[in-house]
Amino acid sequence: MDRQPKPEFFHILRTQQFDRAILDELCDLTTAIRKFAKTREGLNYLRGLLAHKRAMLYFTQPSTRTFLSFNNACQILGIQTSEIRDASTSSEVKGESLLDSLRTFSSYVDVVVMRTKEEGLAESAAELFDHIKRRVPIVNAGSGRDQHPTQALLDIYTLERSFKEMGGIDGKTIGMMGDLRRGRTVRSLCYLMKNYRNMRLVFIAPEQFQMEDDIKIHLQHHGVEFHETKDLNSALPELDAIYITRIQDEYDKSGESKGVDLGKFKFGTEHLKMMKPHGVIMHPLPRREEIHTDVDIDPRAKYWRQERNGMWMRVAIFVKQFKMDHLIMHGHLLD
Ligand code: ASP
Repeated sequence: MDRQPKPEFFHILRTQQFDRAILDELCDLTTAIRKFAKTREGLNYLRGLLAHKRAMLYFTQPSTRTFLSFNNACQILGIQTSEIRDASTSSEVKGESLLDSLRTFSSYVDVVVMRTKEEGLAESAAELFDHIKRRVPIVNAGSGRDQHPTQALLDIYTLERSFKEMGGIDGKTIGMMGDLRRGRTVRSLCYLMKNYRNMRLVFIAPEQFQMEDDIKIHLQHHGVEFHETKDLNSALPELDAIYITRIQDEYDKSGESKGVDLGKFKFGTEHLKMMKPHGVIMHPLPRREEIHTDVDIDPRAKYWRQERNGMWMRVAIFVKQFKMDHLIMHGHLLD
């Protein structure tokens, strides 16, 4: 039989690199890690697991959750961290290229996690690292408008958990609302949909912020059904989940967001009764006004849980990347 080699779980650059097997594996690993973390003994075990590793957190684009959850994931595993959160404090101001700076990081650490406002830098860094002696993995923690692969993994985990009693993610209808054109979280999540059976997507956005053609072509190519609408109310009853995003106006070139009427793309308590009883409300956060805070107490609002899931999924990513997953999955502490 013609066996394809298993894709390497080394650099994490874009969600197209993941197949169903790895998604399922990461979800199971995350659940197992959460079980470990329930006891002091388990937490102590986790803290020793990667105590011999060091990570660089290079975050030159603003971040609260992704930075903190990576940082805390490192702490959970005993990984020591160094960080740069502002390029103006690095030798880039002396004219050093980012790639030379990254190469410097690779001299000191075992993994580089990077968030940049530019697209494609994580890929360039990975290419560079693939050709130097000290090959260190790169984790893309957000690359401009393009991708946010670890967010998509935690989103999958949140969906998986939410639909656990309903046959998992397969066959579900997922709505995505907001700035779909420039929202890297929804873009990354869309690329994962081909791994699930009979998925349907509904893109709810003003015309100016509808999903880009590259994603639509990808979905068509993989037979993932989707349609576009501006009408939240008529879409809601058919959705199993709605994933809401904010307007990404930091990417405005000439204030184009200001002219767009967003009034109809907000989720309030009046929408709760239009949703299925098992429906799921997600948001990558930070939110502005696109979800009213009164929605937070509804059990279907999963965004705060989604945030916490992010930390555990990032623990799982490091565990898998450093090939320690067998110690978790077959660990005696789970007995
Ligand atoms: N935190 C997410 C991101 O970094 C969503 C957002 O900023 O709107 O893309």
